[in-house]
Amino acid sequence: MEKTKVLKYIDNLGKEISDLCLDIWSHPETSGNEKESANKFREVLRSHGFTIKEIPGLEHAFIGEYGSGSPVIAVLGEYDALPGLSQKVDIKYSPVEENGPGHGCGHNLLGSAALGSALAIKGYLEESKKPGTIRFYGCPEEETLIGKVKMIKRGAFEGCDIALSWHPMNANTALRKAFLANNSIKFRFYGISAHAAQSPESGRSALDAVELMNVGANYLREHVIDEARIHYTITNAGGAPNIVPKEAESWYYVRAPHRKDVEEITERLIKIAEGAALMTETTMEYEIIGGTYELLPNDILFELTYKNMVEVDQPEYTEEELEFAKALQETLDPNMVEAEIKKFVSLEGDEKPYIHQGIVDKDKADTVILAGSSDSGDVSWIMPMNLFLTATWPLGVPAHTWQATAASGSSLGLKGMLYAAKVFTGMAYDLINDPQLVEAAREEFLKRTEKRKYVSPLK
Ligand SMILES: [Zn+2]
Repeated sequence: MEKTKVLKYIDNLGKEISDLCLDIWSHPETSGNEKESANKFREVLRSHGFTIKEIPGLEHAFIGEYGSGSPVIAVLGEYDALPGLSQKVDIKYSPVEENGPGHGCGHNLLGSAALGSALAIKGYLEESKKPGTIRFYGCPEEETLIGKVKMIKRGAFEGCDIALSWHPMNANTALRKAFLANNSIKFRFYGISAHAAQSPESGRSALDAVELMNVGANYLREHVIDEARIHYTITNAGGAPNIVPKEAESWYYVRAPHRKDVEEITERLIKIAEGAALMTETTMEYEIIGGTYELLPNDILFELTYKNMVEVDQPEYTEEELEFAKALQETLDPNMVEAEIKKFVSLEGDEKPYIHQGIVDKDKADTVILAGSSDSGDVSWIMPMNLFLTATWPLGVPAHTWQATAASGSSLGLKGMLYAAKVFTGMAYDLINDPQLVEAAREEFLKRTEKRKYVSPLK
């Protein structure tokens, strides 16, 4: 059976996948609350003959499996939304629900493309009678960077040969380099409360410690690698000004291109926190809330992804869709749009397309900047994994904006999603038909992890 015929399955499934995708978009659920979204995915998989396996202790995570034997291919699906990004499919800011959640990271698209490909690959396995297993991974809590880290810790990915992943974005590109590794840490300081005017000498301010720690952290920034990021908020700053704060808390993210840098900077940050406690005669405890790894490259899978992105027909857009993309792009500051575009593609002359058409040349893929973090990075450290982006939002529209929510519920989003589903399907077709490809990706993975094994950021 030819690959083009297998890709046709996606065309046939197009309506069912798109309906599910818009249903998820219309009922956004934030990280940790994805009850209905996960159930909708389970339901579709069940109706197509997949076996659902639950993951103990993780209510909104599951595996939908079909087939038997090798290769065991995992497609990663997510479905969580973001708080405060509620938005209609509109070219001006108009939330469905004031301050409500919305799919500003396009995870409705992310999960639906993965699901669509799982259904198509099942169809292929069934018809061709070839050995192979397809697993759809329902992964919750991506926005809080923890779902897949917890799933790995519970052994949910055991037995897989290869993982396939993608993310909705404003450009089409295969990636070899992506995600900053990350640690999320809370620092809690404990002092002694006192009347701030009557007996300040008896008080030991936990808030002073938080502030001094922040000063120390700001000095640290000069002496870390350029690509490192340290950001914080104060999550408890005490209460009334006339009471010396007995308790205070800050929340830090440390990010860097490699996990080992994150670990080193985290150790230095902890020393700063200890110093702040010493200076203020308070006590300090810290909690690592979570952490993630950067994407571990896999050249074999990168090449395979690129090849399939080229082979599969790209979406074509109507005048109306191009107008919609242009209007959405125009709601953003032009300088910001330009800066955002440069992270993904280099435009020639005064070319100003509104939707990225074509694919970033594979020699330029390493210049694409994807500086967020994702728990998908962790999966790439336990098995070979690919990553690609497709244009689901107008060029220059960043993730985590109302514009991204609007596009994720529009036909632009759906077209980019179906394109991604076909790329997944094409890749799985190649992997099922060429066991050597699976072996080569595995060998590369083993080589790359020879000296550095995955250690869960969770204790
Ligand atoms: Zn995302």
